[in-house]
Amino acid sequence: MNPKVLLIYTGGTIGMVQDPKTGAWSPFDFTSLLETMPSLRKLNVDIGTHSFSKIIDSSDMCPEYWIEIAKVIEENYKNYDGFVVLHGTDTMSYTASALSFMLEGLEKSVILTGSQLPIGVLRSDGKDNLINSIEIAGYKENGKALVSEVCICFENNLYRGNRTTKLNAENFNAFYSGNHPALAEVGIHVKYNRHAILQQTESRGLLVHKKLDDRVAILKIYPGISQNTVESILAIDGLQGLILETYGSGNAPSAPWLKNALKRAIDNGLIILNITQCKAGKVEMGKYQASVELLEAGVISGEDMTTESAVTKMMVLLGSITPKSKVAELLQTSLCGEMSN
Ligand code: ASP
Repeated sequence: MNPKVLLIYTGGTIGMVQDPKTGAWSPFDFTSLLETMPSLRKLNVDIGTHSFSKIIDSSDMCPEYWIEIAKVIEENYKNYDGFVVLHGTDTMSYTASALSFMLEGLEKSVILTGSQLPIGVLRSDGKDNLINSIEIAGYKENGKALVSEVCICFENNLYRGNRTTKLNAENFNAFYSGNHPALAEVGIHVKYNRHAILQQTESRGLLVHKKLDDRVAILKIYPGISQNTVESILAIDGLQGLILETYGSGNAPSAPWLKNALKRAIDNGLIILNITQCKAGKVEMGKYQASVELLEAGVISGEDMTTESAVTKMMVLLGSITPKSKVAELLQTSLCGEMSN
């Protein structure tokens, strides 16, 4: 029996086709996908399609939309072997990260893909990305999905979604995973890096977290950052969590006002998570004096998490877990391979 894969279309460049008369680009009708791309039949995969009523540029992506995607996966979970989400590249890493935390106990592949050029363009990268994603999403060994994770498949690489960042606005090779190797490389064959793939230890069934708390913010440290800027962000009404993007291995300016402001906010219940601005490597608070003060203020370490992972993990945990001390504990624990610890 052919594996069954559900294609979920949210929007992005991949799904644009050019009207031959007007020349205008618009989203194409995914119900006619097999007619548009007859080569998909050669995959020996039964493909179902679900198109969102509102097709978006992924710049408009938001938690409500992530909840919708998660619901579609939940509703179709039993009937499909895997899922491919067609998505714009701009926020694909955020969506992949959010879904990885929302879909607890996932035992099937959820592969996000898109393209830098619309699928109708001769040189488009969309066709290969789509075919590779469908093939991987339907791939099973001993009756089980080999890759039971939320991934991004782009330009010959399969990455763990919550480890990725969009690095290039032009190249076909748009994504980067600095702290975790590719789960598979797609050449003549799909070469799976089995040691890099998340291993499910027990089958718990899918639990979908549909409550996200968006009362979080990201503060990127830069030379010359003012007390006013920092204090304005910390004063945001109702703020529950802050991602502090620091230098190198977690360092920040030594000005006493910074430590004092962060400490005051933490004492008042704000969770502050330290992640690095670097694209690879991790936060090691205490390594330099420039991070000892953050540690003393009560800032916690996000180790080698990406910004995309840190902010979406915080939203999911704050939406579903109490008390805050438990949220802080889980933020420092790898839940689905987002950290190397
Ligand atoms: N702006 C587009 C989007 O993210 C770019 C793309 O699809 O690559 O939806």
